[in-house]
Amino acid sequence: MSRKKIYLSSPTTHSEEQEFIKEAFDTNWVAPLGPNVNNFEKELAEYVQIGHAAALSAGTAAIHLALKILGIGEGDIVFAPSLTFSATCNPILYEKAAPVFIDSEKDTWNMSPKALEKAFEKYPNPKAVIVVHLYGTPAKLDEILEICQKHQVPLIEDAAESLGSTYKGKHTGTFGKIGIYSFNGNKIITTSGGGMLVSEDGEITKKATFLATQARDPARYYQHSQIGYNYRMSNITAGIGRGQLLHLEEHKQLKKAIHNRYMEGFADMEEISMNPLNPDGDANCWLSCITISKDSNITPDQIMDALDEENIESRPIWKPMHLQPVFEGYDFVTESGCKSDLPAGERMESLSEDIFSRGLCLSSDIKNTEEDMKLIIDTVRSVFDKKRAE
Ligand SMILES: *Cc1c(COP(=O)(O)O)cnc(C)c1O
Repeated sequence: MSRKKIYLSSPTTHSEEQEFIKEAFDTNWVAPLGPNVNNFEKELAEYVQIGHAAALSAGTAAIHLALKILGIGEGDIVFAPSLTFSATCNPILYEKAAPVFIDSEKDTWNMSPKALEKAFEKYPNPKAVIVVHLYGTPAKLDEILEICQKHQVPLIEDAAESLGSTYKGKHTGTFGKIGIYSFNGNKIITTSGGGMLVSEDGEITKKATFLATQARDPARYYQHSQIGYNYRMSNITAGIGRGQLLHLEEHKQLKKAIHNRYMEGFADMEEISMNPLNPDGDANCWLSCITISKDSNITPDQIMDALDEENIESRPIWKPMHLQPVFEGYDFVTESGCKSDLPAGERMESLSEDIFSRGLCLSSDIKNTEEDMKLIIDTVRSVFDKKRAE
């Protein structure tokens, strides 16, 4: 195929990244510390309007340190959404704690407050709740925060996909005791790889930086009273981040325009629904997704194959955690009950599985032209047209 590939969500870089990197080289700050690291933390904290930030090597590292700082250890229970990327949940297992997966609600596809309440009935003493703002859509934060406060359990916000999204005018990632962001290659802004841990509590980010730099005690000799990690962001990487941050708002507007374009392109098709955007929020529309109605007899695979033939990248919806072989044996709670209470062998209906089985993520690359968008929309539509013609 001669036509260029249309990507799902590839990095979009500008000129400022190079300037910050050049400055780092010119001043020999080629290390996991330096002015770009400090300034990136400051600038990101200012952007999302939070007190403190700690720049780390990955979003996953930030989630891991959030759990460490909240004292989560062996056997502790942590509530997490089932419909997410595995990086939300892997750190729970790093600490030998036990995830309990919570089903989604239909309005935002995020953690269902009703299912969360159900989980507290069965497990009254989890050590933390992790909420995710999937594909950039803010979760029902008022309801979730109220439940967490009632049970006095800290909330960790995995805002890896939702940097720039707001809920009732406040940035996602700033509602929980700890928030995390990711700058992986396909996220709304990227540092090629990296993450950030944020909090209103400066002691928390201080602790994160300490643990991320090998937990060295304040002594002249290399003394360690705790197990540390090498999780700090480098000064080069942070330079990319500073340049990208200048364009975050612009990236968000372009992502929103992509979601709108798909809405318009599929407006007359009953078989297709777009992923929901929380009306109480302003989503960054990181990835635009669709679900296909059950009675259309078209599968996400058929659409992905048709897109593939046109050299257009697409992706399945995240496979729910409760369906992952690696997390088999951990409990799963829906609005109607717990997996562990079902008779052996009985299958559990869930919204997360339904979204997974009927959905896919469409190309949401901000470099897509109108021509690209039209080709994607026409290709998706053609699958349904062919079916109707049969
Ligand atoms: C990308 C992502 C992460 C992990 O971030 P990394 O920077 O890749 O480690 C965590 N949670 C969610 C929901 C993500 O999409």
